[in-house]
Amino acid sequence: MKNIIFVAPPAAGKGTYSSVLEKKFNYVHISTGDLLRDARKREDELGKKITLLMDSGKLVTDDIVLELLKQKLESLDSNDRIILDGFPRNVNQAKVLDDMFNSLGMIDYEVIYLEIDKESALKRTLGRLVCPKCKSSYNEFNEEMKPKVDNTCDNCGTLLEKRSDDTKETFEIRFDTYMSETKPVLDYYEEKGKLHSVSSLDGIETVLKNLEGVING
Ligand code: ADP
Repeated sequence: MKNIIFVAPPAAGKGTYSSVLEKKFNYVHISTGDLLRDARKREDELGKKITLLMDSGKLVTDDIVLELLKQKLESLDSNDRIILDGFPRNVNQAKVLDDMFNSLGMIDYEVIYLEIDKESALKRTLGRLVCPKCKSSYNEFNEEMKPKVDNTCDNCGTLLEKRSDDTKETFEIRFDTYMSETKPVLDYYEEKGKLHSVSSLDGIETVLKNLEGVING
């Protein structure tokens, strides 16, 4: 199994498909968004800085994200295969990741661009519900993605929450940040011959089939 890197606009489904692939193929799912949300819960100086940046729709600074990611990568077993969800988000992060992968011997990876248009991404953002405990993600505007019991996690029964950055205003800034900082990462991997595009607008089963095509291909 190859290591996978998801690069996509906000709310394209990176987290959702990472979770499915994690369970099905025993991947280790590493979401920098989740690492940051856990770090901000600590409410120390670092947590406050992260909260301010995340809720403004901007990227958290590279030094903070890289330190959290480094700790996580160092805790892996040599046989682990990973899905990176939300990293790299700018070209500098992509270059640092090259070095990290080289030193860990993780040379076998593919990059998947989950495609979605801005309007659909906004709708998904406004309907998103997340489990603060097990991180499962739901959507109240999509029959396939609704929780079985209103506002309750199917997986662990915890009360679901809305993310504080899932507002229309913050979405607009997150999308602009994606266009200016993250989209160039796609060109970076295209030049390396690592980029695959999968539409996120098809039904869940079709998207999964297409993702598995890349992973096994
Ligand atoms: P989404 O894909 O819906 O935007 P994420 O959970 O991946 O959700 O990211 C939420 C926020 O966390 C981002 O808007 C950004 O502020 C921060 N973040 C996540 N990953 C990174 C990263 N690699 N570099 C900088 N900031 C990040």
